[in-house]
Amino acid sequence: MTRVQDSVRSCTLCPLYRQGSPVPYGDPLNPIAVVGEMPPPGTTIPFSDSAGQMVRDIIGDATYLYLVSCGKTGSLKTPTDSEVTACRPNFAAQILEIRPKWMLLMGSSSLAVFHPDLNVSTARGKPFELTIGKEKSVVCMTTVSPLMAQSGGMADHLREDISRFKEMVDAENWKTFVSDTCMGCGAWAERWTDEGIALCRDHWTSNPFVPDSLRGWVRKQNPTEETQLSFDV
Ligand code: SF4
Ligand SMILES: [Zn+2]
Repeated sequence: MTRVQDSVRSCTLCPLYRQGSPVPYGDPLNPIAVVGEMPPPGTTIPFSDSAGQMVRDIIGDATYLYLVSCGKTGSLKTPTDSEVTACRPNFAAQILEIRPKWMLLMGSSSLAVFHPDLNVSTARGKPFELTIGKEKSVVCMTTVSPLMAQSGGMADHLREDISRFKEMVDAENWKTFVSDTCMGCGAWAERWTDEGIALCRDHWTSNPFVPDSLRGWVRKQNPTEETQLSFDV
């Protein structure tokens, strides 16, 4: 067990640790990271419950971890904003240790950490690039949470998104997978950032994550002029 895994396992930063032990990433380091929202109660190995196992069966080798490392009892299995904030140092430490090249973000909370203005229903299955730490770039894709897939009748969405994610990883060229529809509303996209975020005209002008310097551009001419979003840790 690494120092990071150890420190997550013994974390008592927020009251959630009383409801179950923290679950750090549990696999050998892999260029593919799969991020769930939080472990179901009683979980000791990430993605070992039935919904998680379904994901493992489709994706295979990857490093599996959670945005919030402790689960909670009761019927609600989605982390609150304050739980995400409390566990953010643990999540950041794990991602910095894993240093993935590809990341599948499962559920709305996992997407919201990086893009709070996007929602899963219109952003799912669409790649975008992030900068983690100082210079490492990671290509992300979002899909529904395994729990929503299993209990909310979205298993087809999950399979569809994962198979697109795998195709993208195999192709090793995410830019050919960038969407033609807006990640904010699903309408036809006219513009997009160099990070791969496709937007309709309305979302381009209203979304705060489009840097001022890029507002009003219609397709950047020079794709090497990167303006990447940072994940501050
Ligand atoms: S949820 Fe995260 S921050 Fe809270 S106790 Fe568990 S590991 Fe620590
Ligand atoms: Zn839009």
